Amino acid sequence: MKKKQFKTESKKLLDMMINSIYTHKEIFLRELISNASDALDKLYFRSLTDSSVVLSRSDYSINLVADKEAGTLTVIDNGCGMTADELESNLGTIAKSGSFEFKRDNEQGEDVDVIGQFGVGFYSAFMVADKITVRSKVYGEPTAYVWESEGADGYTIAECDKETFGTEITLYIKDDTDEEKYSDFLDEYRIRGLIKKYSDYIRYPIKMAVTKSRKKEESDEYESYVEVETLNSMVPLWKRPASEVTEEEYRAFYTEKFFDYQAPAKVITQRSEGTATFTALMFIPSHAPFNYYTKDYEKGLELYSSGVMIMEKCSDLLPDYFSFVKGLVDSSDLSLNISREMLQHDRQLKVIAKAIEKKIKSELEKMMEADRERYEKLFDAFGIQLKYGLYTDYGMHKDVLKDLLLFKSSSGKKYVSLKEYVDAMKEEQKAIYYAAGESVERIELLPQVESMKSRGFEVLYLTDDVDEFALKMLGSYSEKEFKNVTAEDLSLENDEERAALEDENKKNEDMLTFMKEAIENVSGVRFTTSLTKHPVCLSSEGELSVEMEKVLKKMPGSDGQLPKAQITLEINLSHPIADKLKSLYKSDKDTLAKYSKLLYSQGCLIGGVGVENPAELCELISELMVK
Ligand code: ADP
Repeated sequence: MKKKQFKTESKKLLDMMINSIYTHKEIFLRELISNASDALDKLYFRSLTDSSVVLSRSDYSINLVADKEAGTLTVIDNGCGMTADELESNLGTIAKSGSFEFKRDNEQGEDVDVIGQFGVGFYSAFMVADKITVRSKVYGEPTAYVWESEGADGYTIAECDKETFGTEITLYIKDDTDEEKYSDFLDEYRIRGLIKKYSDYIRYPIKMAVTKSRKKEESDEYESYVEVETLNSMVPLWKRPASEVTEEEYRAFYTEKFFDYQAPAKVITQRSEGTATFTALMFIPSHAPFNYYTKDYEKGLELYSSGVMIMEKCSDLLPDYFSFVKGLVDSSDLSLNISREMLQHDRQLKVIAKAIEKKIKSELEKMMEADRERYEKLFDAFGIQLKYGLYTDYGMHKDVLKDLLLFKSSSGKKYVSLKEYVDAMKEEQKAIYYAAGESVERIELLPQVESMKSRGFEVLYLTDDVDEFALKMLGSYSEKEFKNVTAEDLSLENDEERAALEDENKKNEDMLTFMKEAIENVSGVRFTTSLTKHPVCLSSEGELSVEMEKVLKKMPGSDGQLPKAQITLEINLSHPIADKLKSLYKSDKDTLAKYSKLLYSQGCLIGGVGVENPAELCELISELMVK
């Protein structure tokens, strides 16, 4: 029979398998068992809608046969089976689990332990076997097929005799070498250990004939006998009391199920009885999945109905702002054959989703309190999602999210929460101050930030585009309004100071109007007393800040008519430049016009918005230099 060749990628993977280190090898059994369990699930699903499949749930099982003499280990299931075409497409090409892609993405970077962390499906059997046969028959079909391969040089598919439906995978275990004792994998004790370690929560019985010994009747001698034993406890991890499940078990469950190579930052278990009866097991990843911020990422929790999975990613169970949460929900309230459409309108599901949201929120808050460092790491990965959540749906979710937010600030701490900010506010401080910019360094250069700090007021530093929009949506926190330090009206002065400043602005109205017209781009020019050492700054009036305008400009499709920030050039009244301007207004209006433009450019530069016309600015500077 002509040998067929594996696809290139599968070949590479096979090489990886064959050369893998010993500690990885044992996962092959887990992979085969999981496949068998999936196959049983598939047939079970089919039986729900296909009346020709007559099986009761207790009929399904996985059987292991270890034959030391022949050197073979066989995994048998009575699941869906595979047609010849399916044998070809499923076993002739590499698993679609994405783990191999992952390896390649990381080839230059850190060496991700692919095999150890994910396992790579069926192929992993080649780590311990030098030949594999897969005999399979689909339920109700007349013909069975056998797939056979000795590794990298290809495989064959042929018809074969097989009475029962399902799949039977026989591994011809490699001969022992000096380094590796492959025959261990035929050892009952070893197999039992592997099942406990990796496959204990498989919902179908994994059976094996085991040798036992008993005392002979009316004699002191012992005899051995063979008995079929179920090796796994079958109780899904989430059905066991949380106190009995070890951290290691949760970790293994998570990394395997959700294809993560790092332990989760937090495990959340929830049990509810009453308006909705359900068990949830959720995980907060410790880092953002590589596709998290792309449109490929699909949020959702697995949905089970009394231990049987009914949907792989039920997105209705998670709000977008908690889309990073992984896990599953098992509820006896949901019917097994509920359709996707019906599920969306299911009242019970909505109740569950609400309860889950509440739980995640409270767990995150607890974590923020009890394990700040870990929470901050989490916030680095997912904080932006929380902030978007606050902003979307017209701020509908602000009460859920406001206490989960963290911001950088002038306090010098890595992050502060809004509550921490308000608790630390000075008595005379009226508002929560913030400044926006592309980085902390840039924001710290803002003249207004400097003057706030000199007053002893903490300033939140908003460095993400969404930040200011989110705060605008929030409006206030603990009855304190949010104020951008670059906004015109911060009301920092007392009444007397304010009156004096107004007076000064009034007196110089003509000059300030002249300057405004010379600059063209501003809606006003005025004196200020709130700056310390900087001569000028820009401030904005109304809802839209300079930073927000910048963000809006960057957004796709924004070249049309955008609202513009109303910008005022503020001049430090106590800076010598103020008097200089006044005297120029009397003696040399032409130079005053140039100074005005220069000061405006300074304001732009220090405000982090950049100048529109650098050439004109440079020309002005050199012109004044040679004067
Ligand atoms: P994965 O399980 O990640 O898809 P595998 O390489 O382990 O990758 O398996 C490839 C495919 O072969 C499976 O998706 C499944 O369709 C099929 N398969 C494997 N084992 C069995 C089995 N025991 N019964 C039926 N189909 C199977």
